[in-house]
Amino acid sequence: MNVYDGDRMHELLSPLNYKRVDDPNDAELIILNTCHIREKATEKIYSELGRLKKGFNNPKKNTKIAVAGCVAQAEGEELVRRAPSVDLVFGPLTYHQLPEMIQEITYRKKGKNKALVNIEFPARDKFLSLPERANKKEAVSAFLSVQEGCDKFCTFCVVPYTRGVESSRPAVQIISEAKELINNGAKEIILLGQNVNAWNGEGLSGNRWDFSELIKRLSELNIDRLRFTTSHPKDMNNKLIRCFFNIPKLQPYLHLPIQSGSNKILKAMNRGYSKQQYIEIIEKIRDIRPDTAISGDFIVGFPGETEDDFNDTMDIIKKVRYAHAYSFKYSTRPGTPAASMDLQIDEETKKERLFKLQELITSSMKTFNESFLGRTLEILVEKQGFEENQISGRSPYLQSVHMEGHNSLIGELLNVDILKIRENSLFGTIV
Ligand code: SAH
Ligand code: SF4
Repeated sequence: MNVYDGDRMHELLSPLNYKRVDDPNDAELIILNTCHIREKATEKIYSELGRLKKGFNNPKKNTKIAVAGCVAQAEGEELVRRAPSVDLVFGPLTYHQLPEMIQEITYRKKGKNKALVNIEFPARDKFLSLPERANKKEAVSAFLSVQEGCDKFCTFCVVPYTRGVESSRPAVQIISEAKELINNGAKEIILLGQNVNAWNGEGLSGNRWDFSELIKRLSELNIDRLRFTTSHPKDMNNKLIRCFFNIPKLQPYLHLPIQSGSNKILKAMNRGYSKQQYIEIIEKIRDIRPDTAISGDFIVGFPGETEDDFNDTMDIIKKVRYAHAYSFKYSTRPGTPAASMDLQIDEETKKERLFKLQELITSSMKTFNESFLGRTLEILVEKQGFEENQISGRSPYLQSVHMEGHNSLIGELLNVDILKIRENSLFGTIV
């Protein structure tokens, strides 16, 4: 979602003659678009700000530094206190005001309070103020935000505090943005939301649509592939599950985080489902579309997690046979309920558990990828490869696939024989 937001910021600044540069020393404006989800992500911003301050030697340009995203939203004035070189702080819900904010900091008198902090939750929908989608090179696969925010309040998570309450964009906005992306060359659209499958928005004639209806309507556009991420198990209803059968353009890949395999921990996390309910969803999807690749997120070392609880998580990984997964050590986030829970887990135990879990995930991914050796997969070519005369794309299961081929094939759907598997990538030849 930060990639999507970054692109939209760029589109807002283009009419003001801003262009992207590769070296921060050439920049007149630097925007750090930040993530607050774990402590490490947050700390990175402060070290990056320190590095930028040290490395700066172009006073001629009077470079402005802005911090955007969820760290900005959460830290606000504190950010300016800790990093006085910052000129502008704005959150994920106010970035549409970027042109005005730039104007303001440009003409503001230099002085003690020179930084502008804009972390309101504005009443006006930011999407209504954003320009048309710009033509972006290599936009074969394009992101489209359809839903933002979250009301689920998992006890470990900052999202409800930084991205605000759950809100769904109206279908008319989404469909028109999808058409702009298609006109700009997109062949695949990835619908985004913190809980994308909680989307429940205004349909085309003012009635309400659910997420499955939105997918169906989008699949009628001139597009090859559709995907969505991230889904929450609680919102994974039967109608949506049936889309994996009814809508061939919807790719057989579902990112469905469980976080933990222990019912006790799931309850303490306030996730709203049990391990059994999660498995039932996976079984239903695999009944309907047996080849669906499943991916997930895991947190190890949540307060109170015993060896048995951890083993329940290991057990779920074996049962589900994940194609891919992200895993994290529990990170204490100030202000969330889990931060003050008893039985916090020590760093060493978290590290050991993460290591074991990642070994298991890697082996699960390897087994999944190796099952494609010698088979033919349909690949959407997205970009030039790392080597000469090489192109890269994605399989329906979101695997990276590299093959020999000319740039002119970018944007094409090709059948590729899979000949080699290396770590996370597949290699093949065009049929
Ligand atoms: N809405 C999605 C996930 C959004 S956050 C869901 O509920 O499934 C992305 C991922 O970051 C989460 O799935 C979780 O695994 C991880 N995460 C969030 N807060 C965390 C924390 N405090 N410590 C460690 N990982 C965290
Ligand atoms: Fe965070 Fe996801 Fe829970 Fe919402 S549902 S609070 S985004 S982990």
